[in-house]
Parts: sequence; C-alpha cells; structure tokens
Amino acid sequence: MTQLPTSTEAPAPNVRVETVLENAARASADWMSTTPSFRATVLRLIADRLDERADQLVAVAGEETHLTEQRLRNELIRTTFQLRFFADVIIEGSYLDARVDHGDPQWGMGPRPDIRRVHEPIGPVLVFSASNFPFAFSVAGGDTASALAAGCPVIVKAHSGHPRLSLETGLVVTQAIRDAGAADGIFAVITGTESGRIALLDGRIKAGSFTGSIPGGRALFDLATSRPDPIPFYGELGSVNPTFVTRSAAAERGDEVLAEFVASFTLGAGQFCTKPGVLFVPVESGLVDRLAATSLPAAAPLLNDRIQSGYVATLADLLQHADVEALILDDGAQKDPPTPTLARTSIHQVLADPEHLITEVFGPTALVVEYDDERQLLDVARILDGQLTATIHGNDDDVIAPELIRLLAVKAGRVLWNQWSTGVSVTHAQQHGGPYPATTASSSTSVGSAAIYRFVRPVAYQGFPDHLLPAALQNDNPMGIPRRVEGRWQPK
Ligand code: NAP
Repeated sequence: MTQLPTSTEAPAPNVRVETVLENAARASADWMSTTPSFRATVLRLIADRLDERADQLVAVAGEETHLTEQRLRNELIRTTFQLRFFADVIIEGSYLDARVDHGDPQWGMGPRPDIRRVHEPIGPVLVFSASNFPFAFSVAGGDTASALAAGCPVIVKAHSGHPRLSLETGLVVTQAIRDAGAADGIFAVITGTESGRIALLDGRIKAGSFTGSIPGGRALFDLATSRPDPIPFYGELGSVNPTFVTRSAAAERGDEVLAEFVASFTLGAGQFCTKPGVLFVPVESGLVDRLAATSLPAAAPLLNDRIQSGYVATLADLLQHADVEALILDDGAQKDPPTPTLARTSIHQVLADPEHLITEVFGPTALVVEYDDERQLLDVARILDGQLTATIHGNDDDVIAPELIRLLAVKAGRVLWNQWSTGVSVTHAQQHGGPYPATTASSSTSVGSAAIYRFVRPVAYQGFPDHLLPAALQNDNPMGIPRRVEGRWQPK
C-alpha cells in the first residue's frame, strides 16, 4: 500500500524516497489504463473527504501559515472545486485531443497511412508544493488533481512551511484513494529538501512541477534538465505584475483605482504571485500624493520565517536604492509582523534600472511609478521580463491601449483590462503562466483545465487494426469523446 510517515519526523530520505518511487513506478501502468470515469470517482472522493475534514485541516493550516481562517476556508473550497473540475474534464474527454486520419491514397503530398493521435499520461510526476497556497497549490492542489486526472501517479514534495498540514492532507488523500479501490502507489508525500532533489533526479519520475522562488525553481529546473534523460519541469517562479493606469482612467476614477490597488497589493499580506507589485500613474494626476494620505491595513504575520526574512531583505534593498523614496513607511515596516509599505520612483529611473526597480518583493510592499508621457509605458512594456500578469486601467478610446495591449501580451500570460490580477479563477479559459522568469515553461498553465496538458504526452498509432488501438481512437468512438476526424472536429 502507499506509504506515509506516521509522524512528522521524516525517515532517512534515501530509504523512504526509494520506496515511494518504486511504488509509483509499479502503480503507473495500472493507473494509466484506468477509465476516466474511475479516475473521476477517485478525484471526487478525495474532494468529499477533504470537505469532511475541513475544520481540522483549516485549523492546522492556520497554525502553520498564519493565514486567516476565512482565507483558508475559501482556499479549501477552491481545492475541492479543482478536484471535481478535473473529474469533469476527463469525463468530457477533449483533453485527449484524439485525432483520426484514415489512410488516403489521394492525400496532397502523396498517399498517407491510417494514423491516429492521442494524449497519454506522461508517467509518475513529482510536485513541489507552494508555501503561499497550503491547499490549492499544495498536497491536494491543482498539479496533484490534474496529474492524477491525466492518469499519472503523483509524489508530492511537501513544503517545509506547513509540514503537519501536508502530512494530514496526505493521509486524507491516501485513505480516499484506498477506499475508492485505486492502485497502490499512485500518491505519496515526501519531506525534506534533499528528498526532493533525489526524487527529481530519479529516472522513474517523468515530469516535475513547482511553485516558489526564482532561485529555487531555477535550481530544480537545471536539475531536471541535467538528467541523462531530461524531463519537462513546470516551474512557476516570480512575477511583478505591472499595472498601468492611463491618463484618462486616472482623471476619471483615480480614487477608485487607488482604493482597489491598496486592497489588491495587501491582500493575503502581499503573498500572492499575482500581487500588483508596480503601479504606473500619470504625474499630473496627483494620485501619488493622494496615495500618501491613504491608510494601509494593519500588520499581518507572513507565512513563515524564511518568507519574513526574505521580505525584510528585499524591502531593504528597494528602500536603499538611490532613486526610490518611501511613500508610506512606518517603524513596523521591517518588523515581524510587517506593516505594509509603499515606495515611489519615476519612470525615468525605472527605464534606467529596470533590474532593481521592477523586481518582486514578496510581501506587503508595492512601488508606485510616475510617468509624464503615456508613450513611456510602451518603453516599459518593451523591457519587461516575463510576467504572470500585466494590467491596464484605461478607457476604451485610449490611444495608447492597442499597442500597450499587444506589447504586454508578449510579456505576460494573462493581460487584464480594468480588473485586478490577484484572484485566479479556475476555468477552461484560464492561463496562469508566462515567459521566464514567471515560469520555466511559457506554453503551459498551472490553473484551469489546460493544466492537464502538463502531464500528457502525444502518441501516434500508425496502421493498427481497430481492436488494437486505444479506445479513444477506435472507429466507433466507444468513449463517446469529441475527436478531430480528417481534420474536422466531431463533437461526440
Ligand atoms: P522556495 O524557497 O523556492 O521553495 C519552494 C520549494 O522548493 C520547497 O519545497 C523547497 O524545499 C524547494 N526547494 C527550493 N530550492 C531548492 C533547491 N535548491 N533544491 C531542492 N529543493 C528546493 O519558495 P518558498 O519557500 O515558497 O518562498 C520563498 C520565496 O519564493 C518567496 O519569498 C517568494 O519570493 C517566492 N514565492 C513565489 C511564489 C510564486 O507563486 N511565484 C510563491 C511562493 C513564493 P524546502 O521546503 O525543503 O526548503
């Protein structure tokens, strides 16, 4: 059976990791050949069991992460929604991208064979869970849900910031898997930094995923791609989420934008990867002075000591920059817990030193940048690094808008118009990703139904008799899924 430690004390990593890897490898063939409806049943049972244990899990999460009870309850709702969402996704079946091209002697480039293509599970996946979403991007989070849904065994490397919650969530998931009658070994939790590295380097792991820091994600990406058999590594790393306020929006609804900005950058004590970290406003609008008179929310504890010390250090770097002034800064800014901080600079300084000024400060700080000419926003958009999101607050007839949108779409995975980047809904059209360093795989998403493509691999079958083909590709479409036949979509 799937093994989990019975206490928070981890056994020697090499012994335990070896067992978990062997179990996952053994379980893989069985799990990948289960039907979508069976896997959907497993996912729904996991969701039900997590809901049943909500009070206990939320209490532990609160103790370990300092996040509020309401925030954690909402996050658990998101987590179980996600599990049920992926159950629906695999029942519907279009994620298989099943394509059938019958043999055609008249094909334009010369006769073609009968060839059929379908997505198959990639194999055992190693998920590095995040510190800042102890449910939705952790043990039973999005990557676990989409990988299990795809037919891949999952090994989660627990985040050291919430070890008890990881263990308890892992026990709930494991019990649900057993009760649903699923194959042994399709899920396990491992602990310890070195265990994660050992597992990532192991040939039985076929893909990795990660949410966290740029240095951590980059180190693990390099490890994954340095293997003799390099594997895909889906790292979500860092993002500043630049937010641009046009002249007309500042003039028409500047106060409203400021109030929403403050709520967004301080949400969850600023510990969202989508926090609007840099806000661009027109100098003549007076918005910066109005912001200086705003009151910010009270201090709130950060997730853990590592995040707290990282926050204090990056905030100190920002405030020491010769071209940055404090806008709202009090004695508690660098204490534990920290009071929120706002800093200011000008667009000329940002263009002169983007590396140090357009940088992620993970916690309750943002930088406000004044510009004097809207076309400077285009210059900023051109030099931005990859971002998860980029936002414009504008009006439909803003002259700058079309070009700014086009430039931002090159740099960000999600571009927003008159909305705020915090809050990433789980939907079919969602994209949560972006060019490096936002992620290590800009063509993928970690949120939404398209996230399942991380954990599948296309396989083409050429020349097979019908009964030897996977069910998704057989002539009479026994799975009843949407398919592309002779290049045209057939709904069912
Ligand atoms: P982290 O330090 O990158 O750690 C994330 C996970 O990766 C943890 O499980 C960690 O293991 C593991 N890890 C990191 N470096 C590793 C290495 N060299 N070898 C093996 N494993 C490694 O991220 P964090 O603790 O969540 O937060 C630190 C900073 O990350 C934050 O201050 C913030 O800047 C950023 N962050 C970004 C996002 C985002 O969504 N973009 C989210 C959260 C945090 P251990 O737990 O065992 O150390």
